[in-house]
Amino acid sequence: MKRFITINRGDEESKRLCKYIRESMVKKNFTIDEKNPELIIYVGGDGTLLKAFHEYLDILDNVSFVGIHTGTLGFSTDYTAQEVEEFLENIDNEPVIEEKQVLEVECYNTHTSKHYYALNEVRVENIVKTQAMDLYLDSTYFETFRGNGVCISAQYGSTAYNRSIGGAVIYPGLELLQVTEISGIHHRHSRSLGAPLIMNPNIQVTLKSDSFDHALLCYDHLHIHLDDIHEIRVRNSDKRMKFAHFKEISHIDRLNALF
Ligand code: NAP
Ligand code: MN
Repeated sequence: MKRFITINRGDEESKRLCKYIRESMVKKNFTIDEKNPELIIYVGGDGTLLKAFHEYLDILDNVSFVGIHTGTLGFSTDYTAQEVEEFLENIDNEPVIEEKQVLEVECYNTHTSKHYYALNEVRVENIVKTQAMDLYLDSTYFETFRGNGVCISAQYGSTAYNRSIGGAVIYPGLELLQVTEISGIHHRHSRSLGAPLIMNPNIQVTLKSDSFDHALLCYDHLHIHLDDIHEIRVRNSDKRMKFAHFKEISHIDRLNALF
């Protein structure tokens, strides 16, 4: 992995650290390659990874990501800012590659369809009015949901938004889809599952509604307005996002740092 780039959160500490990493790596005969990197070093936090992921979506097959934490949380980062020398030593070793599912979503109206990818989650959310929508699992009707919305995530995103709405935290190595409700309305005349639903990753989740007026489709840190959309399909994509681990960190340690 000789060709690399760095991406930072934009704050002074992350910028300074990036500059230092670039200079140190060039001295070690690594090459900066903005167009065709093999390794993306993100300096910041999990949010920085999401930005890097979306920027390099088209070449995901050819790149791996490694993170250095200057942020508030840094669940996905393997090194802290204080461990940068250790990182620069480890970088000569062959990394262990860990692959993560990437979600894919298509939004339809009568004329067109739009297509997006997400690493953490896809959410359909309406905070203006009660959102009613029919959920289908593959082509089978499952339920009618009423409330603010639903969140669909895979393993990696299980510790992000999914966790704060009561979804299950999923251990790495499992491929799946998890549907979690966002403020579901449950009473005598309106009832949906009311619990996270975890499924085989081959299932496609379809959301249909006569009106998604004022609703947003949020995918990671990005969003579009759904006003003219009537059907949304979410599934596991063919793409994989790859982490390059130059040292071993147990998932338990990551979880302990998170909670
Ligand atoms: P952001 O500030 O980039 O992220 C919000 C927080 O979520 C940050 O503390 C971030 O960590 C953390 N985070 C992101 N992905 C994570 C993951 N896979 N596991 C554990 N923690 C994770 O906010 P944003 O730009 O609006 O949204 C980006 C993502 O943040 C979304 O995909 C969503 O999952 C998450 N988010 C969560 C909530 C919530 O839990 N209520 C609310 C908004 C957004 P860093 O500080 O290290 O970047
Ligand atoms: Mn907007």
